[in-house]
Amino acid sequence: MKNYSIWKEALKNEYQSLNEDSKADIVIIGGGITGISLFYHLRNTSLKVILAERSQIGSGVTCKSTAKATFLQGNIYGTLCQKHSFAVARKYLESQQTAIQLMTECIHKNQISCDYQKTASYIYSKNYEDILKEKRVLESLHVPVWEEKKEEYYTLKVEETFVFHPVKFLQALAKMGIKKNHIIYEESTLTKIKKEEGYYNCYINNHIVKAKKVVLATHYPYFLWPLLFPLQCYLEKSYLINFSSTNEETQGISLDDPIFSYRFYKNSKIYLTGSHDLGFKLNDAEHFQKLEQQANGKKNYIWSNKDIMTNDSLPFVGALNNSSIYIATGFNTWGMTNGFLAGQILSDAILNQSNPYASLFLPNRINKMKAIELPRILLNTGKSFIGSILNPQKKWYPKSLHLEKRNGKSIFVYVDKNGIQHKVWNRCPHLGCGLIFNEIEETFDCPCHGSRFDLDGKAIEGPSNFSIAYHEEE
Ligand SMILES: Cc1cc2nc3c(=O)[nH]c(=O)nc-3n(C[C@H](O)[C@H](O)[C@H](O)COP(=O)(O)OP(=O)(O)OC[C@H]3O[C@@H](n4cnc5c(N)ncnc54)[C@H](O)[C@@H]3O)c2cc1C
Repeated sequence: MKNYSIWKEALKNEYQSLNEDSKADIVIIGGGITGISLFYHLRNTSLKVILAERSQIGSGVTCKSTAKATFLQGNIYGTLCQKHSFAVARKYLESQQTAIQLMTECIHKNQISCDYQKTASYIYSKNYEDILKEKRVLESLHVPVWEEKKEEYYTLKVEETFVFHPVKFLQALAKMGIKKNHIIYEESTLTKIKKEEGYYNCYINNHIVKAKKVVLATHYPYFLWPLLFPLQCYLEKSYLINFSSTNEETQGISLDDPIFSYRFYKNSKIYLTGSHDLGFKLNDAEHFQKLEQQANGKKNYIWSNKDIMTNDSLPFVGALNNSSIYIATGFNTWGMTNGFLAGQILSDAILNQSNPYASLFLPNRINKMKAIELPRILLNTGKSFIGSILNPQKKWYPKSLHLEKRNGKSIFVYVDKNGIQHKVWNRCPHLGCGLIFNEIEETFDCPCHGSRFDLDGKAIEGPSNFSIAYHEEE
């Protein structure tokens, strides 16, 4: 069984890395579904557009998703009625149906080979009341829904949804967006943004790209200290397995705890469970063990993923404080539709065009936070920070890993399956948290804000952009 996402097999290095200073009207940072969708939506403008991606196109959170495009997103409509209003639930539904329609049209019109499969979507619960609540809201929103009983679960079904291969989709969109003055760079990391003389100086691979507008499509928009972003959201981590199975034209998600979610792909099933707030339940191996018990076919791939959950259950998309810095994040695990739509909303904003959904996702909105959420987020992060520093040696770590001290600071020393030794600093460069070793995926993960590092210390996910590689001469 491979210890990475099934979609990773399709990743390619297709574009050169940035190796000179440059100037552009728009710089997009991040080549996930959000950044690439924006790049695609800007394809007809004569403005100069540069997109910089830290690794390869599609290699971030998008690559580890289940890639279901659906508007039946758990009990979102009941939640939005409760946290906001019926009108907000209606607008959100409309936005998701629009995204599905736009993605479908884009795939068919451009004959994109991304293993598109139209499916029905289900929600599941053992508690009939929970299904009924969502059904009532959906019916008031005039959505055709069907109730079914599947073994011990009550279910609700909707039509007009699909599943696809996210990396193949992004690679095709990227190609369609490329022009003489629309350029993509891979292996190109932004490390700093500084405003000077009306331009944003973007420091990428030790070069400066001057930009009039910057879009942070980086999943976690970490250059924005004043936004107090970590207080408006939290991260949720889940575990996924792919195993051989007969294909079905369905996808689904449960409302119960522990949550499960599934879809099919080429005679195999992708199954997700074990979702929890990042920073709680740090022993990944335990989660993976439980996950493996759910597979009733040949196990092919196993991996984990995390997404940003907003306190008010709506994404953040748009310009910050009327500046020329834009963000799109907080997709609450529904980033296929929301990420694609965010590309369209941002493109409209940049080109001064109106968009019917822009007002729903304003990043500077007053975030309706429940009183319990802020203390919970602070407590969670504080616990992760203190726990990771005071108790770096976890009892579940394998014998092939140990911690050593260098000048009072701790380093991990790990011998991998091929007998190669790796040494990394046990400190996240983002805000200084200690790291947790994820034995199954062989990564060092930050329990505070989700940065991840490979065995050689390279930052591969999350807010940190700096390596934690340890060199003997340090
Ligand atoms: C377990 C799980 C399952 C999910 N399943 C679904 C699903 O079925 N359907 C659905 O709709 N959504 C799903 N989601 C949510 C969805 O996967 C995400 O919301 C979405 O992929 C986020 O896309 P993104 O473009 O914002 O981020 P990413 O895909 O992470 O893209 C950001 C990119 O920015 C790059 N980057 C970061 N920092 C820098 C830097 N400094 N310089 C240059 N580049 C940088 C990264 O390398 C990355 O490629 C799921 C999420 C999880 C956790």
